[in-house]
Order: sequence, then C-alpha cells, then structure tokens
Amino acid sequence: MACLILKHFVHEMSFASVIVENALRVAEENGAKKVKSVTVVVGELLLINPDQLEFCYQVASQGTILENSRIEIEVAKADISCVNCGKKYSQPIYLCEDCGGFVSVKGGKEMILKKIEIENRDGG
Ligand SMILES: [Zn+2]
Repeated sequence: MACLILKHFVHEMSFASVIVENALRVAEENGAKKVKSVTVVVGELLLINPDQLEFCYQVASQGTILENSRIEIEVAKADISCVNCGKKYSQPIYLCEDCGGFVSVKGGKEMILKKIEIENRDGG
C-alpha cells in the first residue's frame, strides 16, 4: 500500500511530508498534546491535487500528534505579470506575449502553513 501511494502521489507525498514536519515543529513549540487541524495555503502553480494531498497528509501524519487531524487546503491564485508592460497572466509563461518582456511570479508558487489548531490542556 505504501509503495503504491508513493508511486502515484509522489508529488503530493513530498509536500505532505513537509507540511507534517513543519506542523509538528510548530505544535511542539506550543506544547501541543494533540493537533485538531492544520490550514495550508498552496499556490496553484505547484499543481497540487487537494484530494491527494489530504490523503497523503493522513498517511504522513500517522503515529504523530497530527494523527486524525483535519487538513484545510486553500489554493492561492497565480499572480504573474510582465515586468516591462505590466500585462497580467494567470498561467505560467516565460516571456510576455505582448512585448516579449520577462515576467515575474508574485504568487502561485507558495506553500504556507497558515494556521494550526492545537489542544494543549492538561488532563484533556
Ligand atoms: Zn509585456
């Protein structure tokens, strides 16, 4: 099963591992006993499938205090514009179609751990 997942969802799995790693660090720094939910912002240019990411997150979080927590995935829109004429693009492009200028990517490639909901009460 694990091999199958890694084969098909290798992209999502690597992102899930990074999310779990970082969420665990934040949770531990805050003295969490259990994590209830994690909210992440994923840039659309990363081409993440949210369903697969969620599935991989559940797999990657097993055996940690993140186990059985929810993952909320927000997709950030791509924000690409020509540095020369300012024309906006929502898809990756190397050179501006209008003027041939270089484009800069301001959004859409980010992965942000936005919020983490923890339980840290003693005795639960
Ligand atoms: Zn341009």
